[in-house]
Amino acid sequence: MTQEQRTPLEIFAFNYIWKSGVPSKVSALSWQLLLDRIPTRDNLWRRAVIRDDDAVCPLCVGEVETARHLFLHCCVSAEIWYAVIRWLGVTVALPANVLMSYGMLVGCGNNKKRKKGLSIIWLAYVWAIWKARNNRVFNNSEVEVGAVLEDIQRFSWKWYLNTISFGPCLLYEWVWNPWECMQR
Ligand SMILES: [Zn+2]
Repeated sequence: MTQEQRTPLEIFAFNYIWKSGVPSKVSALSWQLLLDRIPTRDNLWRRAVIRDDDAVCPLCVGEVETARHLFLHCCVSAEIWYAVIRWLGVTVALPANVLMSYGMLVGCGNNKKRKKGLSIIWLAYVWAIWKARNNRVFNNSEVEVGAVLEDIQRFSWKWYLNTISFGPCLLYEWVWNPWECMQR
C-alpha cells in the first residue's frame, strides 16, 4: 500500500500508532493487523499453509477466522468489545471493520491526552485478544471475557504510564475512572 492510496483514517491510524509509546511488538502487531497481514487462519489458508476446513475461528469454532471476525465480529470478541465500551462508559456500536474500531474508539476522546489514552486502550485490546487467541490455539486455554478485559486494563494502564512524566495513577484508579487518569 502506498501513501497515496491510504484514506485519511488510515494515515492517522498508522502515524498515531507509531507514536503511541507502547512496546514495539505491540505497535508492530497492530500495523500488521491493519494491513491484514497477521497469521489468522484465513491468511494461512490463502498462503496454502493450512487446509480450508482448518481455517475455522478457534474462539467460536463456527466461522472462518478472518482478522475482522477474530477481533470484532466473533461472538466472543464482540463481548470483549462491549466489555471495554461499558468500562469506558461510552456509546459505540460494533464497528464494521478493524480500522473503523480504531477510529471510533479514539474519536471518543475530546482532547489530545484522551485520544492518546484511547489509542493505547485499543492497542491493548488488540494485544489482549491476540494473546488470548494464541493461548486458546497453543495451550487450549479457555477465553474468559472478564480475564481479557482485565488484561486490557492492565496493559493499557502500564503503557499509558510510560507516556506521561508526572502524576502517575494506580491500576485501580485507571480501572475505576480511566478518563480522570487521562487528564493528568
Ligand atoms: Zn469466532
